[in-house]
Amino acid sequence: MAKSIKQLFNRRSFLGLAGLSTSSFVMPTFLNGNKGDISLPVAQEPTPDYQTLREGEAYFDTNKMVISAYKSMRYYKKKELSYHYDQIRIYRMECPDFKFGIDYSEYFRTLDHKKAALIFQGKMEPSLDNKFRYEDKAIKLGTVYCYWIGSALGVPEGPLPVKARDPEIWWPYETVQKRADELQKKFPALVQVNQIGVTTNKRPLVSLKVGQGKRCIALVGAVHAGEAGPEIILYVLENLLENHPDLLKKVSVVAIPSANPDMRERQVKGNPWYLRRNANLVDINRNFPANWGDVETTYGYSTDDPQSNTYRGAFAESENETVAIMQFMKSHKPEVIFSYHCLASIAGQTLAASKDGLQSKSFVDRSNAYANTLWQGMANRDAAQEKVLYLCTAGSMPTWSYKELNTPAFDIEAPFEAADLAQCKTDQTDRALLKKYQEMHLRGITAVLKSITF
Ligand SMILES: [Zn+2]
Repeated sequence: MAKSIKQLFNRRSFLGLAGLSTSSFVMPTFLNGNKGDISLPVAQEPTPDYQTLREGEAYFDTNKMVISAYKSMRYYKKKELSYHYDQIRIYRMECPDFKFGIDYSEYFRTLDHKKAALIFQGKMEPSLDNKFRYEDKAIKLGTVYCYWIGSALGVPEGPLPVKARDPEIWWPYETVQKRADELQKKFPALVQVNQIGVTTNKRPLVSLKVGQGKRCIALVGAVHAGEAGPEIILYVLENLLENHPDLLKKVSVVAIPSANPDMRERQVKGNPWYLRRNANLVDINRNFPANWGDVETTYGYSTDDPQSNTYRGAFAESENETVAIMQFMKSHKPEVIFSYHCLASIAGQTLAASKDGLQSKSFVDRSNAYANTLWQGMANRDAAQEKVLYLCTAGSMPTWSYKELNTPAFDIEAPFEAADLAQCKTDQTDRALLKKYQEMHLRGITAVLKSITF
């Protein structure tokens, strides 16, 4: 009995010693290569080339840039090192040769704050003793900037790239919500606003039903974050309600103005380069359960590659946004679905439909009939000369719509006019261009609605 207590005691001593020696004794001695020196490593005061700020962020908010960063954890609450934060510096560089659609994050990586303008230097009170925040209002809409935020001595945190995007062209999430709610208040008998799910980041996904007709058409916006949607769809709905209430008594429009608002909001708030996927980095338009297992390689991306801009997801309908769209379409059973794509809030007249749809002549006939009606309504082309492009891939919404609902569905892509396409695809959409396409889609959708009622 005495022996076993002694063994237990020795075992505990051994464990205690082992714990101590691993963390603070053996390792430093081993690393120093000096068996006589057992002193613990102490935090050295970093040299001036140490980065004394962390988690830098810059975003655009309506009329200003907001630049912020935290004290480094090493310095946070260390009074004797607080002199590092006596002065905060903000640097800014304009990036006029950043090319949307060609340049991505790599453009900014090699930029150097030493070549940027120092736009602020001075005392700044941190919130909660550790977060510095600066607002830059001397900015021009449409301009790409790069910021750095630095302490008195340390290397600045950055580059922090951000674009000032016109909120009249790129509607913030709040604007979309507000305009939907205003329509409901103004036309209570004709408008319902509903939540049909939550996004990956738990934002409410909003839908509208406009009209009293049992038959309906469906509009979906911004499945791809940097493309078109809410600005066209809500304009169309507002103007139908103002000018065609009689039409809406016979046929309805159901709409999801912004199907991927998590990432669209990042684009709105200034991410300079094109964003496509949802917050899980899944391409919603490759995530539908329609030939989902077939690997597609459009644009030089493979849909089974999680790094790719067209990643289909870990499994079919894995994404909240996909599930919400599917349930919405199944419950409303629209006659036809239009999904707005292309770029920078503009979708043109090019109509893309499922390549699988070509297997059914009656499906192609019905699809072509809707396309012709839309084109005739837009009235800027002879519909007989245009062709629907049957190319939408596995996992896309149009392919799912064909296979699951037997409903014609179109991704609305590039404008026919080369100058307009060049403008939107380089993210230079202005208010006049947006207005032109809002009006064009209003005429097209009105024509489609009329064709259904008569
Ligand atoms: Zn798209």
